[in-house]
Amino acid sequence: MRRVYLDHSATTPVDPEVAKLMMTYYTEKYGNPSSVHSFGRDAKAALENARESVAKLLGAQPTEITFTSGGTEADNLAIFGVVEAQSKKGKHIITSAVEHHGVLEACEFLEKNGYELTIVPVDEEGLIAVEDVAKAIRPDTILITIMHANNEVGTIQPIAEIGKLARDKGIVFHVDAVQSFGKIPIDVVAMNVDLMTVSSHKIYGPKGVGALYIRKGIRIIPRIYGGGQEKKRRSGTENTPGIIGFGKACELAAQRMEEEAVREAKLRDKLLRGIVEKIDYVKLNGPQGGEKRLPGNLNVSIQFIEGEALLLSLDMMGIAASSGSACTSGSLDPSHVLLAMGLSHEIAHGSLRFSFGAQNTEEDVDYVLEQLPKIVERLRMMSPLYDQAKHSQCSRAKAQ
Ligand SMILES: *Cc1c(COP(=O)(O)O)cnc(C)c1O
Repeated sequence: MRRVYLDHSATTPVDPEVAKLMMTYYTEKYGNPSSVHSFGRDAKAALENARESVAKLLGAQPTEITFTSGGTEADNLAIFGVVEAQSKKGKHIITSAVEHHGVLEACEFLEKNGYELTIVPVDEEGLIAVEDVAKAIRPDTILITIMHANNEVGTIQPIAEIGKLARDKGIVFHVDAVQSFGKIPIDVVAMNVDLMTVSSHKIYGPKGVGALYIRKGIRIIPRIYGGGQEKKRRSGTENTPGIIGFGKACELAAQRMEEEAVREAKLRDKLLRGIVEKIDYVKLNGPQGGEKRLPGNLNVSIQFIEGEALLLSLDMMGIAASSGSACTSGSLDPSHVLLAMGLSHEIAHGSLRFSFGAQNTEEDVDYVLEQLPKIVERLRMMSPLYDQAKHSQCSRAKAQ
């Protein structure tokens, strides 16, 4: 059976070049970067080289990069680190309704512990209005944290404008850029960003590695204390092979990004066209135009079917996608992102996310377009609602 992986927003395979380089630092150049001997110096040099590669892809200086155990830790370091450093100034935080849980849960924890939180809404395309952020600002606002591109629907937010607003008001601005990093151009200076979260495993690097960009002059209180690594911002012996792999993944992303974005957007558009052509009662979620959306993201709701049932059927045919409902986490709540965009629970439940990556081909799309309509037809045979909808459409057509 053909196997088609269309879940690159969840994670990507490690690029063979990355894996090969990492292996050297596991088995040969395994020194502790803090050691003074040649083993340590080799590791340290490679670590600093990786820092340069990450910085370059962000338009940052290497000294502004702090390595972490991933995007989630970087989000937490940014949020807790800033609010603690700014505690004398105020207790108000602004975020958006469509953030990753790494941001939302951290903000909600703070809200339960004496901070005040304003959650800015989004429109039906998942877009934040800069005016809404402006309206939310108060004299005691200490942090604005808003993502660059959404992981579920791919919406790209107006970060530079929000950043300008924050900078003018002297408020620290953090951006979770895990989904956009290495996929579309980023320039932290032009975007007026103070802190930016990135992660390795979404760009063909290893899991468990990420980084926080901390603009020179921005103060944060560390979350982890110990040996003082990462300029005391994040203690603990560095995940040297992981970080070096991350650096390599950044280099590859820099080389491939432009071409790959065009290629993936084409595959994505082909899949959407095919789905709309072959399946009725389908809704495209998120931005309707390509330019406000990540190139590799497609999110559709297929009405009258549970997303989970679709996923399982697709999986049986070797196709890996993802759905908006967080069934795996023990609840059947539909995605907070889709609900914030105004989708009904029903429509949100039928959502499917396809996220493209480097290995996907036209043949993959053809295979999905061959399998998906059959699955949808079979599942809808069991849906009385679909029957009703079909029926009422027929009688409407007759009446015209
Ligand atoms: C994946 C992801 C994260 C979490 O990164 P990890 O490295 O998996 O901890 C954070 N934010 C967004 C938008 C993501 O897509």
